[in-house]
Amino acid sequence: TIKTRFAPSPTGYLHVGGARTALFSWLYARKHGGKFVLRIEDTDLERSTQESVNAILEGMTWLGLEYDEGPFYQTHRFERYKEIIQQLLDQGDAYYCYCSKEELDALRVQQMANKEKPRYNGKCRDAGHRGDDTEAVIRFKNPTEGEVVIEDLVKGRIVVGNKELDDLIIARSDGTPTYNLTVLVDDMDMQVNYVIRGDDHINNTPRQINILKALGAELPKYAHVPMILGPDGARLSKRHGAVSVMQYRNDGYLPEALLNYLVRLGWSSGDQEIFSVDEMIELFDLNDVNVSASTFNSEKLLWLNHQYIMNSDPAHVAHHLSWHMGELGIDPTQGPDLLEVVTALRERSKTLVEMAAASRYFYQEFADYDEKAAKKNFKQGSDDVLQQLLDKFSAEPEWQGEKLHQIVLDTAEQLELGLGKVAQPLRVAVTGAGVSPGIDVTLALLGREKTLARIEKAIE
Ligand code: GLU
Repeated sequence: TIKTRFAPSPTGYLHVGGARTALFSWLYARKHGGKFVLRIEDTDLERSTQESVNAILEGMTWLGLEYDEGPFYQTHRFERYKEIIQQLLDQGDAYYCYCSKEELDALRVQQMANKEKPRYNGKCRDAGHRGDDTEAVIRFKNPTEGEVVIEDLVKGRIVVGNKELDDLIIARSDGTPTYNLTVLVDDMDMQVNYVIRGDDHINNTPRQINILKALGAELPKYAHVPMILGPDGARLSKRHGAVSVMQYRNDGYLPEALLNYLVRLGWSSGDQEIFSVDEMIELFDLNDVNVSASTFNSEKLLWLNHQYIMNSDPAHVAHHLSWHMGELGIDPTQGPDLLEVVTALRERSKTLVEMAAASRYFYQEFADYDEKAAKKNFKQGSDDVLQQLLDKFSAEPEWQGEKLHQIVLDTAEQLELGLGKVAQPLRVAVTGAGVSPGIDVTLALLGREKTLARIEKAIE
């Protein structure tokens, strides 16, 4: 069975680049009925934090990228890495290196001066084990002949000569394993057979392959997915705006909209733009992942979010909306059914934050009227208009949108006023603002009690 993994380092939140890698790995596993592993690469003790772990888990959960195995933590596996390092030493595939920092620096300077690529010269390869290891690192004895061939599922064939690769440090002088070693040991032990990761790791791959070969392990297939760039062509980062997945939650995006945006960022299927998660699973293929980087476009993401808000099941939107209402201090039980509010507001709300803010007057009294709207609509005579509406609404036995709308129309006609001169003061009186859904929908959702009380208050 196919097994993929997502292996974030917990040194920050889950960002959109990581989320897309996770999504591709997750989709590939789901498509093939395989397994998806989450592995937390927390060996960098100085930069890894529990807070980041939590943020990553929270982001994965919010996106719905559920994992079948894990989360595994590399810090729990130090004994195993030691075992492998010892095995490589015993096999003669690794050696202690006693070169000092000064020596290595001098070597580098000399190589640079000769316009050579800086690489370790293998001085300690055959020096043998001195027994005094406090300052020694351990290096992998990379083959010196031949080449590594990677049939990358995204990038195509990559060939690297072993002469290009030097002897990688696999254990630091304090005995802790280095990043490349932990990754390959984990992929081997966890039986990951599809390594889907960012192409910033492409230089590590031939080194990892050589060590895997030395361990007699079966090699996984590799797919290196290209970077995400900001609009200025630089690698996407904080200065381009929001890059944390949870920030998109906070900003009022639906998780499906973000997933849809991310899947399209570097992957396509014909000219289809909108994919349900099931369609993504069905159609996703590594062959269709772009070879080159893609540019993040927040306007397109916003457009997609609006599509999802308009076209998703209102109950689903309501579920996410209620969280945002909570953030704004609005109690969704103190007013109309959320489903109806979603239906009323979705055309005009590009984000759930907008929708939550626009729903406020259905649930809470407002202290002030929007200044501009009040100035424009509360004029001489508007009190009379509101009084007439109040009388008619009070007498109306059935509180029903179309009936209420008819009253507004009739009132305008009787007073020989344009519809706006009647509906707008009413709208400002009951919502506090100059814009809202149609007056029929607005009044019906507000209900009799709130409507009448607010008109009275506006007349005072
Ligand atoms: N921990 C690495 C990172 O966050 C990923 C390693 C891998 O996917 O092989 O960049």
